[in-house]
Amino acid sequence: MNRILSVNNLYKYFNKDKLVLNNISFHVNKGEFVSIIGPSGAGKSTILRCINCLTQPTKGEIILGNKVINQIKGREIRKVRREIGMVFQNYNLVYRLTVMQNVMHGRLGYISGIKGILGLYSEEDKKKAVALLDKVGLINYMYKRASELSGGQKQRVGIVRALMQEPSLLLCDEPIASLDPGNSKVIMDLIRDLVKERGITCIVNLHQVEIAKRYADRIIGIKNGEVVFDGVPSLLSNKIIEDIYDTSMDNLMIGKREEKLNA
Ligand code: ADP
Ligand code: MG
Repeated sequence: MNRILSVNNLYKYFNKDKLVLNNISFHVNKGEFVSIIGPSGAGKSTILRCINCLTQPTKGEIILGNKVINQIKGREIRKVRREIGMVFQNYNLVYRLTVMQNVMHGRLGYISGIKGILGLYSEEDKKKAVALLDKVGLINYMYKRASELSGGQKQRVGIVRALMQEPSLLLCDEPIASLDPGNSKVIMDLIRDLVKERGITCIVNLHQVEIAKRYADRIIGIKNGEVVFDGVPSLLSNKIIEDIYDTSMDNLMIGKREEKLNA
């Protein structure tokens, strides 16, 4: 077993008395596709933010590769972030810039600040960007402003930008929460296929259980900042799902039907 990430006894308090992560522990192996599920407010985003050093846990340890990363600062954070690609619910693109410019931002961790400001990327990097944009069906949008794209197209740009980084770990925080079912499928298929092809380890936060079951090698269920399930999708029973979401399967199915009606 080739472990790439260990999260050990992680606690996170906000404002001294608000406990958001309560003794979270889990491990991820190289090349695994893991989905973290749980209701809104469970702590899913906070876990990813701790892994990406966007926030520091109050207590506990995070090991990426063989490096303890939960206490690092400054330049070390920059180095770790280079290893970790991020895909966001709201895409986080720079909308006044072109698709190509946004995608090239994935290379910023690799070139000097001044080259980045001047947009002096290597030919090799540009070729790589073009190939990836072609792969996600955006070759004809390269010089369009990001603001002109649809939601699904914006997220495809977000994915390409993250892959330009050549990350060993890709973190996706609710990548399809703003998309309709059709685009959600396109985005989830792309994420799965692109990371599998490249051997990239992937953690995707989702609130939709069915999607997690369909795509993930393993599911981690979070409730009130605690891990309440960690296993392969086939072991995630309806009873456990009802417990995680504090509601009946019937209610969850009604939610799904409404989603379909609204689509
Ligand atoms: P999820 O992604 O599962 O919806 P989050 O990790 O975003 O959950 O949030 C978990 C809890 O932490 C929520 O109760 C949220 O209000 C709280 N929280 C998140 N960020 C902050 C913050 N910066 N300050 C205070 N509370 C926060
Ligand atoms: Mg969240």
